[in-house]
Amino acid sequence: IISQPDFDTTIHRRKTRPVKVGNITIGGGFPVVVQSMINEDTLDIEGSVAAIRRLHEIGCEIVRVTVPSMGHAKALATIKEKLAQVYQPVPLVADVHHNGLNIALEVAKHVDKVRINPGLYVFEKPRATRTEYSQEEFEKIGDKIRQTLEPLVISLRDQGKAMRIGVNHGSLAERMLFTYGDTPEGMVESALEFIHICESLDFYNLIVSLKASRVPVMLAAYRLMVKRMDELGMDYPLHLGVTEAGDGEYGRIKSTAGIGTLLAEGIGDTIRVSLTEAPEKEIPVCYSILQALGLRKTMVEYVACPSCGRTLFNLEEVLHQVREATKHLTGLDIAVMGCIVNGPGEMADADYGYVGKQAGYIALYRGREEIKRVHEEQGVEELINLIKADGRWVDPS
Ligand code: SF4
Repeated sequence: IISQPDFDTTIHRRKTRPVKVGNITIGGGFPVVVQSMINEDTLDIEGSVAAIRRLHEIGCEIVRVTVPSMGHAKALATIKEKLAQVYQPVPLVADVHHNGLNIALEVAKHVDKVRINPGLYVFEKPRATRTEYSQEEFEKIGDKIRQTLEPLVISLRDQGKAMRIGVNHGSLAERMLFTYGDTPEGMVESALEFIHICESLDFYNLIVSLKASRVPVMLAAYRLMVKRMDELGMDYPLHLGVTEAGDGEYGRIKSTAGIGTLLAEGIGDTIRVSLTEAPEKEIPVCYSILQALGLRKTMVEYVACPSCGRTLFNLEEVLHQVREATKHLTGLDIAVMGCIVNGPGEMADADYGYVGKQAGYIALYRGREEIKRVHEEQGVEELINLIKADGRWVDPS
């Protein structure tokens, strides 16, 4: 038998620099940050304030808003002010897109981070034919990008704010597309070009994302980015996401496959699950991914057997009852196992166990120790009493 210390089950996170976004820090070994985006039009001040609060109250630590015009950018000043008056300051990110320099400069005064998409930030007139850009043409556009980006970089740098360089697979700049193709390499080069400009201006409060709607593309892009950053001695935190993941079960599985795979490799400092559903639905998915990987423990971890012919009670129903009774607690592991044949062994790491003992009776465990046997009708109540007796219970708020 190989002893447990021989297996390292910890996820070793890639070392990144800490980047402050309001009162939250991304990277630098801080817990992986959960974020999302409201759907409201930013011109709708009351609606936006309410939506930001709704998200923040359920655990969204950074909230993004879209800023398509100067009017939207100015509206953010009021939103920020209102939030601070009626609620509390919430770290805000503004999404700036096409030819957005003036909008970005305005909004940079009101938010904590500005997200730009390198593929859209500077408009390049589409070429009639798909021909590669010459070095000279490539550099000429690079100079234009530098000129357009510089004022924003200086503004964010001088205010101590952050920028996300948010590359999207579906909106690469044409010259990147024609030079590197529709590839992870093109995505990484797009990000690096913007990083180099920022670094030349002594601005390092950067977070990078390389999202794609196809998981294998997204995985390849982030892994290549990490490799290139390591070669270049860069340590910028990464924002993970699968764009346009869709809705329902598949949207969640797709997001988990992409985000979870990278997190398991130690890559990623902040995440957003993009669902075609209300943004509030994204937050529990984020926390479940982080909890499943042991990166953040924000809820009870339930261990339950799949049930089989040996199951001694209605496992699905009891698990539901136990979950309903204890879901407000944090930091506990609770196991619900159908029988004692495999049950106690397989739930050994749990703090508490509810295990089928014999027809009509269950056993309650604290760790590996059987504490008492009770009739199954009192099972859930007695489990709660046990948690209370240990001083680990709090009343639901
Ligand atoms: Fe079956 Fe018991 Fe294993 Fe559950 S713990 S699956 S009831 S053998």
